[in-house]
Amino acid sequence: MHDLLVIGGGAAGFYGAIHAARRKPGMRIAILEQNKDFLSKVRISGGGRCNLTHRPMDPGLLSGHYPRGSRELIGPFHTHASQEVMAFFESLGIPLKTEEDGRVFPRSNQSESIIMGLMGETTRLGIELHPSCRVTGLGLADTDGNWEITSSCGDFRSRRLLVTAGSSRSIWNLLENLGHRIVPPTPSLFTFRIRDPRIQGLQGISAPGRIEVLEPGGSDAPVAQANFKKAHRKGELTAEGPVLITHWGLSGPAVLRLSAWGSRLFAALGYKARVRVNWLPDYHKGAIPAFLEQVRQADGARRVGRSRAIPLPGRLWARLVEAAGIPPDRRWAELSRAGMQQLAAQLCECTFSVDGKSTFKEEFVTAGGVSRKEVDFRTFESRKQPGLFLAGEVLDVDAITGGFNFQNAWTGAYLAAQAIAGSLPEVQESSR
Ligand SMILES: Cc1cc2nc3c(=O)[nH]c(=O)nc-3n(C[C@H](O)[C@H](O)[C@H](O)COP(=O)(O)OP(=O)(O)OC[C@H]3O[C@@H](n4cnc5c(N)ncnc54)[C@H](O)[C@@H]3O)c2cc1C
Repeated sequence: MHDLLVIGGGAAGFYGAIHAARRKPGMRIAILEQNKDFLSKVRISGGGRCNLTHRPMDPGLLSGHYPRGSRELIGPFHTHASQEVMAFFESLGIPLKTEEDGRVFPRSNQSESIIMGLMGETTRLGIELHPSCRVTGLGLADTDGNWEITSSCGDFRSRRLLVTAGSSRSIWNLLENLGHRIVPPTPSLFTFRIRDPRIQGLQGISAPGRIEVLEPGGSDAPVAQANFKKAHRKGELTAEGPVLITHWGLSGPAVLRLSAWGSRLFAALGYKARVRVNWLPDYHKGAIPAFLEQVRQADGARRVGRSRAIPLPGRLWARLVEAAGIPPDRRWAELSRAGMQQLAAQLCECTFSVDGKSTFKEEFVTAGGVSRKEVDFRTFESRKQPGLFLAGEVLDVDAITGGFNFQNAWTGAYLAAQAIAGSLPEVQESSR
């Protein structure tokens, strides 16, 4: 009989097992992982560098980075947030660095440092590791609340269960059979597929922008339309930040933010929508025509397509001038009022049709999972099945990019570990 079985050897699984063992030495703990390697997502995370968390901030501010889970995570972040996570990894002898934008990485720039730290600590604490061990069934074994697990490497019994299996359909099915509601999974952190001559061939160019989702393009279903209106009212369909042009369309922080907040809505719309990009988010829209008029008077002899009035990348500026119907050799002095209005519209109200999604290469997560209503966020214990704890991506919690998704995994696993260890007061060092 184990004291704790952890299902899933990823970030949340290791963190939970380590903190349970630290809190109560003597517990018999095992991690069951279906793959031959543990921590495989940690390995590929952050482009191989592992953006393990974000610069410490107030719990309310931190939780604002979670489209799903922001309310529930405020309390947990008061107990265990970025600061505690950074202290933990530094205590394992892994120096960290915080980049200018707030993302935290191992100073080695290698996710392997994090993996070695976690693996080393599980060995030191005597936690059993079972690789290539796929869990296929779980249920109560007896009336004392002990659990029985069936797996590809045999059957196990345990007093407590910590499920950290990420976005695993088969584990969600097992949890559903135990009475949990599973919110259907949809991708989050994707980029917009757009075919448009204004951005074709400009991949790699990035400019500040404000993007707004204007109208659903794919679905006329009343539910999708109603959700669209609701999201618009809540301001979830507008984002500001760098907009990156890619081979396939638009990406960058502003797009990823929209894709995270609009994860369910975009799925319902079949990833079809019209979006409007304002390439001049820092300028007041009403002031642009007057500003262009000033440029016309000051730079009359210069060609419009070659002389940027505004600090946008030159090739993007030239495309927007072309899209405004202004011939490339037209001089500022020759520009008609209508031409200037067209140019102002391209600069501030540049609309594109999104006709699908592409994967963001560095990070993608799944929205959906075990309903947040069914978890007590003080302990991460299931409200349906006492003795069963859930943490990480298995829950319907996800964040925007920046280290926040791992932070959710660490925080949930830590609180679950404390509750699990605290619920087994009679475990003695000698029971091993
Ligand atoms: C390419 C990529 C890059 C990312 N980069 C970052 C980043 O830099 N920063 C950040 O914050 N987030 C990042 N993320 C998101 C982050 O990786 C996840 O949020 C995080 O890994 C979730 O941790 P978890 O432990 O809940 O789940 P996982 O890491 O997915 O671990 C779950 C484990 O459970 C195992 N499992 C599933 N089913 C079973 C079963 N039946 N039996 C046994 N084992 C099972 C899986 O094999 C897996 O190892 C990235 C994601 C991707 C895909």
